[in-house]
Amino acid sequence: MKLVEPSLKSSPISTFNIERIRSDFPILKLTINDKPLVYLDNAASSQMPQLVIDRLVRYQATQHANINRAVHYLSEIATSEYENARRKLQFFINAQEDREIIFTSGATDAINLVAHGYGRKFIGAGDEIILTTLEHHSNIVPWQMLADERGAKIRVAPINDKGELIIDAYERLFNQHTKFVSMTHVSNALGTINPIKKMIRFAHACGVPVMIDGAQSAPHIKIDVQDLDCDFYTFSGHKLCGPTGIGVLYGKAELLERMQPFKGGGDMIISVTFEKTTYNTIPHKFEAGTPPIAAAIALGAAIDYLSTIGMNAIAAHELDLLNYATEQINYIPGVRIIGNATEKVAVLSFVIDGIHPHDIGTLLNQEGIAVRTGHHCAQPVMQYFKVPATSRASFAFYNNMTEVDALIAGIRNVQEVFL
Ligand code: PMP
Repeated sequence: MKLVEPSLKSSPISTFNIERIRSDFPILKLTINDKPLVYLDNAASSQMPQLVIDRLVRYQATQHANINRAVHYLSEIATSEYENARRKLQFFINAQEDREIIFTSGATDAINLVAHGYGRKFIGAGDEIILTTLEHHSNIVPWQMLADERGAKIRVAPINDKGELIIDAYERLFNQHTKFVSMTHVSNALGTINPIKKMIRFAHACGVPVMIDGAQSAPHIKIDVQDLDCDFYTFSGHKLCGPTGIGVLYGKAELLERMQPFKGGGDMIISVTFEKTTYNTIPHKFEAGTPPIAAAIALGAAIDYLSTIGMNAIAAHELDLLNYATEQINYIPGVRIIGNATEKVAVLSFVIDGIHPHDIGTLLNQEGIAVRTGHHCAQPVMQYFKVPATSRASFAFYNNMTEVDALIAGIRNVQEVFL
């Protein structure tokens, strides 16, 4: 039942210097359609603070060279900055060793790497791979391709009407054929945070390794891969205030060492003859060719920036935004939030009775508000909720309450125009 409408609150949160943080992001000063930009598409890509942009420029202007292959000054600088970035990522997720951090082009690339590098070697005919209904297509298709090739089978852990995984049902999927679990930490379509620590523990008790897709969690939650005890963890730089074209795969060293390389080429070898190639040690075994050096270094700068603010402070601010936005949306008749998990990050997927999500997105854009509309590359989630698409507002730590208010006013305006 919709009760008394709460008052809008445009004041910033007191303990978190949001206006100071906002001033670090040049793009937030833009106007779109003569309105201040309200950027609520952070689950697709977040924005870069000036410091990260500056780091990219400094690298390109004064440090650029190819890595690992020369003794000249620039190559040494580029190599040491690139390896420095690796160590920053190691500390960011508390990996035990820096060789457990592999730079990829993104989460999709990393999942493909594990599906091919681990899957092709260790998963065969009749074996089973467990995924969940909440997966992004990036964590479905590579496993389907592997399963088709190897004659393996995909099994899917179901969700309930709140968009939460049904843990009993997940546990019941395990049997003697189960060889791998790959699941998302946070749903990009709904914001649900999965209880992955418990789920990993269960899989391990059955002797099954687990890969976590952290594309939507690493930007919002403090990640500790040793505490989680996951076997693989991945995320993308462009959702984490870094540039596109860079991502991270964490893997336990002993697993990475036993895996096949996914791509062949320069730098991933120790020696090559036409008869035989000997592969390099990890992480280089998985970084064939020239890596995205500039992007990795800039991601390192983004990690420094986020660490200065603190992931716990970021999570707390985003929870305030989520609670406020949820409360406000729930007071608008005809608007339904899809995904009401008890544990959520600040992602709000919603549908409005009688209005197509693309029309919602187009009208909000006229107000300078960027949301994403569509299936969010999570069609099984849409199928479960029997909707073709949703509108999704996804928040970052640099969003403020004024922007929530703008979204709410924008939704009301959409209703006025269409209904
Ligand atoms: N997994 C999830 C949960 C995602 O949200 C995304 C990006 N939307 C990906 C994987 C793929 O990330 P990328 O496109 O950066 O490889």
